Amino acid sequence: MQDAIRQLLAELGEDPTREGLRDTPKRVEKAYRFLTSGYDADIDRVLNNALFTVDYSEMVIVKDIDFYSLCEHHMLPFFGKCHVAYIPSTKVIGLSKIPRLVDVFARRLQVQERLTNQIAATIHDKIAPLGVAVVMEATHLCMAMRGVEKQNSFAVTSAMFGAFRDNARTRMEFLELLRLRGGGFGATDRTAAGLACVGDE
Ligand SMILES: [Zn+2]
Repeated sequence: MQDAIRQLLAELGEDPTREGLRDTPKRVEKAYRFLTSGYDADIDRVLNNALFTVDYSEMVIVKDIDFYSLCEHHMLPFFGKCHVAYIPSTKVIGLSKIPRLVDVFARRLQVQERLTNQIAATIHDKIAPLGVAVVMEATHLCMAMRGVEKQNSFAVTSAMFGAFRDNARTRMEFLELLRLRGGGFGATDRTAAGLACVGDE
């Protein structure tokens, strides 16, 4: 990878041997290894010993999980907040594991829609809840930094399974609870943002 980065620097018109850039290939490799470490993660190990059987069937919500990912179209960051909710049937996931789960899928080359779906589908698969909902709101630097006109660099995506998909009241309850936070999600004009990174440029 370091050779490729050295070549990239040269292609950009830089001198890869100058002092400030000498260790850049090593640093960039280390950064990319970390930012894509989700490929090597084992979901069952991440969730190890954190699935509990409970007699509880109210909505569980974890809001405002910070995440950072890389868009697969430009390999530039997109980042923001993730909100996860589910209604247990027999099992719950330890609350601290949910941000870990988000990281596993965020630390890959992604598109926001797939990332959102993968988080929801994994919770669905692992604990078979009555429903699961994931909402992600993110700023895409590939849009913001490149100054692509008439495109919103902010996008909101959601994935809803089970009760959240089938029952409008459950879905509304979740969206209302997100809104209670004040600021952030719930500024309804933002929910209309289109897909940020369309990957055609
Ligand atoms: Zn992009």
